[in-house]
Amino acid sequence: MPHPKVVIAGAGPAGLIAAEVLARGGAEVVVHERMPSPARRLLMAGRGGLNLTHSEPLTDLRAPQALRDWAEGLGQETFVGSSGRVFPRALKASPLVRAWLVRLAAVGVEIRLRSTWTGWDAQGRPLFQQGDGDPVAHPADALLLALGGASWPRLGADGGWTDILSAAGAPPAPLQPANCGFVADFRPDFARRFAGTPLKAAALRHDDRQVRGEILLTTQGLEGGAVYALSAPIRETLAATGEAWTFIDLRPDRLAADLAARLARQDRKASLSNRLRKALSLSPAAIALLREAGPVPLEPLALAERVKSVPVRLIATAGLERAISTAGGVRFDDLDAGLQLRARPGTWVAGEMLDWEAPTGGYLLQAVFATGVHAARNILAGLG
Ligand SMILES: Cc1cc2nc3c(=O)[nH]c(=O)nc-3n(C[C@H](O)[C@H](O)[C@H](O)COP(=O)(O)OP(=O)(O)OC[C@H]3O[C@@H](n4cnc5c(N)ncnc54)[C@H](O)[C@@H]3O)c2cc1C
Repeated sequence: MPHPKVVIAGAGPAGLIAAEVLARGGAEVVVHERMPSPARRLLMAGRGGLNLTHSEPLTDLRAPQALRDWAEGLGQETFVGSSGRVFPRALKASPLVRAWLVRLAAVGVEIRLRSTWTGWDAQGRPLFQQGDGDPVAHPADALLLALGGASWPRLGADGGWTDILSAAGAPPAPLQPANCGFVADFRPDFARRFAGTPLKAAALRHDDRQVRGEILLTTQGLEGGAVYALSAPIRETLAATGEAWTFIDLRPDRLAADLAARLARQDRKASLSNRLRKALSLSPAAIALLREAGPVPLEPLALAERVKSVPVRLIATAGLERAISTAGGVRFDDLDAGLQLRARPGTWVAGEMLDWEAPTGGYLLQAVFATGVHAARNILAGLG
């Protein structure tokens, strides 16, 4: 019997892991990628150390150990860093991607670059456009769409597939920024002066959740790990009410009473900035943020309480261009349990183009790899 032919659109981690599983399972696999090189977003993720997965035991679909074993099979030893996050020792993606592409070629996967999926022809065959040419049909026994979301569109995934899938009867949930920054109503001079400055060892609170981590002041407002971690509830509050109040604890390691005692010991004639700097080790950016939030109380306990809860009003998301990931996408109701599109039998979907979101911490890539493997196994099962 001839090998089943599978065409994959998108050479990100979801498409490439599916290609590997399919090729090992005996399929003839061609991956089409619209950019001049594969896995650009994975390589960009590597700039931040490449948080591959998380070491906490999850369900079997998201088994982190399988991903660590896979990376180690590519010569990329991994380690568990702070708060259980797993990274390759190289702390970047390029050695892993290089070794992976060699392995994919060895198992027979062909990658065609500058080839954009544009939909299906009248016979239901997938169409790909090379450069500026007319789209050409590439018949296959199965098509896997692994086109990513729409964050960092200059790296390739721009959400251009949403109209095609809507026309095909599977309108996706609207794509929205996830793990993203937000626009605050800071005065322009404050934002300009402190853009790019991190508030070290701070914590961010929204509603009843508080997260410790990096909070970076930007020209627009806030971004950074703690902001990303709360981005889903903040985005929902913004959508519901048009604003979202957040509160920054500039000294989450100390109780207000302790901070107040330290402040009370300072020379009352010293300037407010000097007292905050000397008693609480606050940075110039932290002190300016306190002032930005309105009149600063001078009495020690009231001042300490303000230091532990500086109000910042957020008024918009910072947009998809610089969001780490995308919420929304192909709805699970439009897929069967194997991730096959109900409206288009013979077409499967994997990775970030599915309608899920996860916090940073390794959960994104873990889910991207897991859905790629899951779709590939179901394609193999479907093709017998
Ligand atoms: C700055 C940054 C840092 C990140 N850091 C981490 C991290 O440390 N840990 C983590 O878990 N996650 C991280 N992520 C998220 C992670 O990179 C993504 O979740 C992951 O790359 C999504 O994989 P994917 O294969 O679904 O989509 P993508 O990686 O986006 O791949 C989709 C591919 O499809 C191609 N494509 C799109 N449309 C077409 C078309 N019509 N035809 C052909 N090809 C097409 C695109 O060019 C792209 O190459 C980070 C993201 C960014 C932007």
